[in-house]
Amino acid sequence: MKLKVLTVGDLETNCYLLVDEAARQAAVIDPGDEADRILKAQQDLHAKLIYIINTHGHGDHIGANSAVAQATGAKILIHRADAPKLNNPYLNLSSSFGWEIISPPADRILEDKDTIQLGKLEIEVIHTPGHTEGGITLKVNQVLFTGDTLFASGIGRTDLPGGSYQRLISSIKTRLLIFPDETAIYPGHGESSTIGRERRENPFIGSVSV
Ligand SMILES: [Zn+2]
Ligand SMILES: [Zn+2]
Repeated sequence: MKLKVLTVGDLETNCYLLVDEAARQAAVIDPGDEADRILKAQQDLHAKLIYIINTHGHGDHIGANSAVAQATGAKILIHRADAPKLNNPYLNLSSSFGWEIISPPADRILEDKDTIQLGKLEIEVIHTPGHTEGGITLKVNQVLFTGDTLFASGIGRTDLPGGSYQRLISSIKTRLLIFPDETAIYPGHGESSTIGRERRENPFIGSVSV
């Protein structure tokens, strides 16, 4: 497995290109903006882009869905509860930033515990609502792509429509902190971390009981 990180757009969203080198197949997680840079990086990896996977439906995570899908034919995957955000600028909040993001609709609707096969890599879907209703974490080997659920020393906002602080903390504690300390975390914004570091140091996690 090969991983390339691009930080894209005004909100500095982490966009991840995940490659199964043997199969020469790639998936992009959260192509939020800057389609040209993403497509260039994908070409440099010499892998065919099969999937666009959105950890949730906010504009800063789906902004380049349309251009990347058009250029590559990759299929768009998102959790059922966030799928309506894809082509609705009010729901994906892009209209409140003054531009309208409209993604093509989902090609595949994801549910908790689904797996997405990328060559020999198995990408597991973990439903982690709280930032949005349909937020997911993607697990590949010992790596978690946590979207806007869990950040290094932080957690996602819960004051946006569909957000819930209680649900977010519950998702983190019952769906993410169950993994071993060495499990890597690649979040939707900011630096990477590990489950162990967040368990010890994340100020939002220790104090709240669920
Ligand atoms: Zn978000
Ligand atoms: Zn975000």
